Amino acid sequence: MSQGRLEQLRSELDSVNLQLLELLSERARLAQEIGQEKQKQGVPNFDPVREKKMLDALVEHNHGPFDNETVRHLFKQIFQASLKLQQVDHKKHLLVSRKKKKEDTLIQLGDTVIGGGTPVMIAGPCSVESYEQVRQVAKALKEAGITVMRGGAFKPRTSPYDFQGLGVEGLKILKEVASEFGLKTISEIVDPAHIELACDYIDVIQIGARNMQNFELLKAAGDVKTPVLLKRGLAATIDEFVHAAEYIVSRGNTQVMLIERGIRTYEKATRNTLDISAVPILKQETHLPVLVDVTHSTGRKDILAPCARAALAAGADGVMVEVHPDPATALSDAAQQLNIPEFQDFLDNVRKSGLLPAHSLV
Ligand code: PEP
Ligand code: MN
Repeated sequence: MSQGRLEQLRSELDSVNLQLLELLSERARLAQEIGQEKQKQGVPNFDPVREKKMLDALVEHNHGPFDNETVRHLFKQIFQASLKLQQVDHKKHLLVSRKKKKEDTLIQLGDTVIGGGTPVMIAGPCSVESYEQVRQVAKALKEAGITVMRGGAFKPRTSPYDFQGLGVEGLKILKEVASEFGLKTISEIVDPAHIELACDYIDVIQIGARNMQNFELLKAAGDVKTPVLLKRGLAATIDEFVHAAEYIVSRGNTQVMLIERGIRTYEKATRNTLDISAVPILKQETHLPVLVDVTHSTGRKDILAPCARAALAAGADGVMVEVHPDPATALSDAAQQLNIPEFQDFLDNVRKSGLLPAHSLV
């Protein structure tokens, strides 16, 4: 083949490439429009029957030189790329998406704002066990300048024989103690039927890791105005986590915070694996406040402070930690809760990093 002929064929190929690109782009735009139409009608983007029909029709028209399998393979790639495009488009339309709303969602709890650029520390016992136990913690929190207290009244336990929490009695204790010390409270609700009642007692409804995809609970939490702290599921992907939040927001409750609490991996050195990378991803992809639970993620008191600093350095809007006046006798999570002096050391340590505001006594 002469050099001239090769050059000519190459230039023809270049031009076919450009035509192909134009056609592929045209096809992609059509697929996007189809995706939008499907979304309006509430039908799924991927339609395997339609895909099969398109592939069969292409093979019928195939006269080589590619064999039918190659044609199928090539077009499947094109279909897949279009589907991806539709999914990205779809994500943009999620109410929790940063693309849908640029400004950060702020959660106002009295004078405390979560998500506004000043990180918060949330602390309290794993379970509400008694009035006196909660009061001791609340007093220490108040003195340390902490404004939001956690405490579980309904406990989702692995074993039915373990302490299940004090239930509504526990919510009452939280309310009474919180009003004495001027604190805001967070407590987990596990039953959709308790959501409305919970709003009378607590300031934030926690939805626990085990219930992240309890859709009826998510919907019930979406129907009230009380802020919700949604925990990441034990084995939930970030995408599933974001969609769980969407369930709440789509019902009208825009006051949602996300909390990374560690995920299941093969690692045994910690109770779960703290996925720090989830923090910047969730901050980028959503406009919701993002917190990190250092207690349930690590399950180890000796690394709480560096993990809290890492969370804040990664952009978390707050950290949650468990504190108990006498962890050895705690009815749940005895091994991982800090006692009050340990909590004070932990707080000092994190504050010294400059990542958490110092306690001002004003
Ligand atoms: C809790 O915070 O009390 C709790 C049970 O945590 P998780 O749902 O993350 O396991
Ligand atoms: Mn706990």
